Amino acid sequence: MIIVLKPEVKKEQITLFQASLEEKYNVKVNTWIGVESTVLGLIGDTTQVDEDWVNAQEIVESVKRVQEPYKKANRKFHPDNTVIELPTGQKIGDGNLCIMAGPCSVECEEQINYVAQRVKDAGATFLRGGAFKPRTSPYSFQGLKAEGLDLLKGARKVTGLPIVTEIMRASHIDMFESVDIIQVGARNMQNFELLKELGKTDKPILLKRGLANTIEEWLMSAEYIMAGGNNKVILCERGIRTYETATRNTLDLSAVPVIKKLSHLPVIVDPSHATGKAWLVESMAIAAVASGADGLMIEVHNDPKHALSDGAQSLTPDQFDVVAKRAFALKQAYEEIINA
Ligand code: PEP
Ligand code: MN
Repeated sequence: MIIVLKPEVKKEQITLFQASLEEKYNVKVNTWIGVESTVLGLIGDTTQVDEDWVNAQEIVESVKRVQEPYKKANRKFHPDNTVIELPTGQKIGDGNLCIMAGPCSVECEEQINYVAQRVKDAGATFLRGGAFKPRTSPYSFQGLKAEGLDLLKGARKVTGLPIVTEIMRASHIDMFESVDIIQVGARNMQNFELLKELGKTDKPILLKRGLANTIEEWLMSAEYIMAGGNNKVILCERGIRTYETATRNTLDLSAVPVIKKLSHLPVIVDPSHATGKAWLVESMAIAAVASGADGLMIEVHNDPKHALSDGAQSLTPDQFDVVAKRAFALKQAYEEIINA
């Protein structure tokens, strides 16, 4: 971290400030006193240094971080890729493509069991389905809630597929005890109290990127979970809000290699919420695999026209068969090429 001081500061003020930084944050401070201004360079672990506090000091002109503010999620401190292994044996980030597929919302037993079996037959590794739904309108279907969780567990029993479903509040964590992967949706990416509580669990957490969040903010949210002791974080790019209206969101695929560079955590892509249109899901799923993603999350519905949520972006099971087949084939080719 580099701190530039105001031109008129006195030597005693600099010494005092340097001592307080060293004591408060356990860093070493190098000082360069120039003709125009004085520059301090902080050496050591600066993740704990509060930029706001530094900026609030009267003698400070500006502050610039040269090191990322996250540590546990940072590849610099953990060069190897993290592979998340479930107690049931599935792995995420091991070079295979994991596909989480299923309806936006769990609607009834027949629906979830049918879709679960179909996506399993097509090669999906996880069953997704929303029981608690974050909807823009309070008048839209809000999910079957606890009953939805039970239906997901029933579908898991029938198919053997582990389940991924979204949590919306910390007080529900006990209810999610037997969920295999807990999803934090885009709207809760910065619900820090929820993230802190999830950090105390040992469940894998699928952390979706917020609608308008930077990659650094996203990694800081992962850091919240990891700071609590839970390192099992999977990141999910699901499109961000831009000025473009042709698609529901704008899929930021460069986020995949950027995350891979900055972090060791696995990253998957959700082309369904990113595009909002079923006909765009295949091309974006394929592009996601080619960008190096560890997996995909894809919405699949038995009857998209009558879906209670996100029908326009949901694939039929037949369409999903084709997309999954192509995505797996491409992943295999991709791994062969990059490991050649
Ligand atoms: C979902 O996966 O059902 C969902 C609501 O996604 P997002 O949080 O990305 O909008
Ligand atoms: Mn959805």
